[in-house]
Amino acid sequence: MSDPRQPAECIFCRIARGEVPARKVYEDEDVFAFHDVRPQAPVHFLVVPREHVPTLYEAGMAQHRALGKMLALAGELARKEGASEGFRIIINTGRVGHQEVYHVHMHVLGGPEPLGPMLLRRKSEDRK
Ligand code: AMP
Repeated sequence: MSDPRQPAECIFCRIARGEVPARKVYEDEDVFAFHDVRPQAPVHFLVVPREHVPTLYEAGMAQHRALGKMLALAGELARKEGASEGFRIIINTGRVGHQEVYHVHMHVLGGPEPLGPMLLRRKSEDRK
C-alpha cells in the first residue's frame, strides 16, 4: 500500500526528484525552495532539506547543515520574493502542529501588509 511518509511517495521528495512540478525559488545540494501551492500570504514559499526526515522529532545534529542553511537562506530568499519589510517562519510539527506533509519544511510567509496574529486566538467560551 502507498505511504506518503516514505521517500518513494513523499510529495516533497517527488518534487526534489523532478517528478512533480513546482515553482522553484532556490536549490542547492542540501536544500530546495518552491512556492506553496496554497499560498496563505502574498509571499509564501517552502524551504525543504533534500534528505527525507519526517519531522523535527527525527532531526538531529546529522541534519544541522541543512537545517542551518534553511534559516541562513530565509532572509535573502524572502527579499528576493518580495517580502522586504519582514516575514514569518513556521515549521509545523506533528499532529499538534497540524503538519500535513511529513517531510520537514519551513514556511516563509510575508507580504506588503503585516501578517495576522501568530496563532488564532480561541474565543473565550472555547477555553472553558
Ligand atoms: P504543513 O505540513 O501543514 O506545514 O504544510 C504543507 C504545505 O505544503 C501546505 O501549505 C501545502 O499547501 C503545501 N503543499 C502540498 N503539496 C504541495 C505541492 N505539490 N507543491 C507546493 N506546495 C505543496
